[in-house]
Amino acid sequence: MLRCMANNRTLTMIKPDAIAQGNVGPIIKKITNSGFKIVALKLTQLSPERAAEFYAVHKGKKFYEELVTFMISGPVIAAVLEKKNAVDDFRALIGTTVDAAQGTIRNLYASSVTKNAIHGSDSNENAVIESEFYFNKDEIIDY
Ligand code: UDP
Ligand code: MG
Repeated sequence: MLRCMANNRTLTMIKPDAIAQGNVGPIIKKITNSGFKIVALKLTQLSPERAAEFYAVHKGKKFYEELVTFMISGPVIAAVLEKKNAVDDFRALIGTTVDAAQGTIRNLYASSVTKNAIHGSDSNENAVIESEFYFNKDEIIDY
């Protein structure tokens, strides 16, 4: 288990659409301006197998194939973010899956329900699992 994950870290992915559209800079600026500290970061390409593993909970849903195809269409930027109440505050910053509120990252940068620019963990437990999916312990910085 990663150090101090309990209530203060979340895992994000900047998705392939946002990278392809040149929105990485504005998205990272919004994240850091909102009080999140980047403690791990990498640009990486998911294989079909790795994307299927990340989204295993959605296997069988009608959007699953489209989601996996999208998530392997280009690189993603994975990051671990630190802030008090990180999971809930980050979900608020990115906006809901459908009809994201004005000013949220998805409202600003999503082009569809699938191509929605960014991921955020939905619980502290999944934040740990998803952080360990992308990063070894020695790749996460203790400031
Ligand atoms: N998604 C989709 N169609 C849907 C619901 C979700 O294509 O009807 C995609 C979208 O990219 C979303 C991801 O699948 O971010 C994971 O879905 P989830 O319900 O976990 O939404 P999230 O937690 O990302 O808001
Ligand atoms: Mg989710």
